[in-house]
Amino acid sequence: MLKKPCADVQLFTDSQQSYGIHDRIEGMISFIPRHSIAPDQLSLTFEGTTTVSMDTNETNIPLPPSAASQTFLRMQQPLTELPFWKSAKLEIGSSYLLPFEFIVPAEIPHNVCRHSHRHEQVHWEHCQLAPSMGQQSIRQLKDQSVDGMAPEGIDIMYSICLRVFESCHKTGAIRTIAEWTRPVHIRPSRKERAPLLIPQDSRYYCLGKEKKVIGGWCPRALGTLSVKAAQPAAIQWHPSSGIPATKITANLQYTTTAQSPPPELQSIHPRLDILTFFSLEPWPDFPDLIDSSICPYHNGLNVRTVSLQPCQLGPLEWQTFNSKESTTYTASVQVPVIFPNEMAYIPTFVSCLVARTYSVKLSFLYRVEGQWSRTSKTTVIVPVQIC
Ligand SMILES: [Zn+2]
Repeated sequence: MLKKPCADVQLFTDSQQSYGIHDRIEGMISFIPRHSIAPDQLSLTFEGTTTVSMDTNETNIPLPPSAASQTFLRMQQPLTELPFWKSAKLEIGSSYLLPFEFIVPAEIPHNVCRHSHRHEQVHWEHCQLAPSMGQQSIRQLKDQSVDGMAPEGIDIMYSICLRVFESCHKTGAIRTIAEWTRPVHIRPSRKERAPLLIPQDSRYYCLGKEKKVIGGWCPRALGTLSVKAAQPAAIQWHPSSGIPATKITANLQYTTTAQSPPPELQSIHPRLDILTFFSLEPWPDFPDLIDSSICPYHNGLNVRTVSLQPCQLGPLEWQTFNSKESTTYTASVQVPVIFPNEMAYIPTFVSCLVARTYSVKLSFLYRVEGQWSRTSKTTVIVPVQIC
């Protein structure tokens, strides 16, 4: 806590570690003026700010990183009911108590997100409360357990702020002469969204893959193997709710005109991809669904990947459909996906400048008739929501 010369201030909040939507943040400020201060010079707020700092320098000249900042939330605590409000000046050296109470909102004021959008859903998503994230918020809270896996330079911070203002006698301009803040950790839960409409040429997702199967003792085209995965239901996760896990259903189809048996599926290797998108300018569309050709240079992406427990499979139960020309085999598998426990999973979200998405890449390893010493692979990438 900083001590500024015009007053001694201590900020206390209740001991709750993390706050969700509609939670009450209660606390008290002890304020001892050291200079002459009028009550109406004080302002007590609950604020949320996003900062993005990224290196866009393409020259050899050392330049500071480019930065963008957005204060998306500023809720005011009324002080007019306090007993000392009507006094002309606060007494120097006296101790004043300022209680406060803020209810964490579900949304930010809609006029904060005023840029253009491709469609209304983007605006709606931007107006949902974003979670705390970033290295700075970890340092302020001195708590590694809130690591939301954000890259350096990307921060979403919430805090209780007490400010003392002063107006200039000549110009009337108001400036802040002292400021005290206390960080607050916010983890809003998120309502499950409909499955994503994934563009054909998506850079980040691929729900289905079709592959020619080459095999036989004398290698030749035997047929086509296709894998189609379904987007699973959102994972409802909270730090106290244990290990996040889900199951992804994948449908396999093998069509052969060469009367060959379906490939032998050996194992499935899931990998968790944690994507943090950030930008110096607000996005008009969802960054994970946007057409990559219109992505300007000031967009950034940080990807963290974690290999998950492979899934070993017994023989699949193939269903067979015969036609005159070909034979088609179909089978369905459910792949258990268990996330590592030691991480803090902030919910999937998209704000004006920062977004977080999760996806699971499934690699299917299989062997083909006549090529038993060789393993082939096909992969899909499935978005997974965390709420
Ligand atoms: Zn916006």
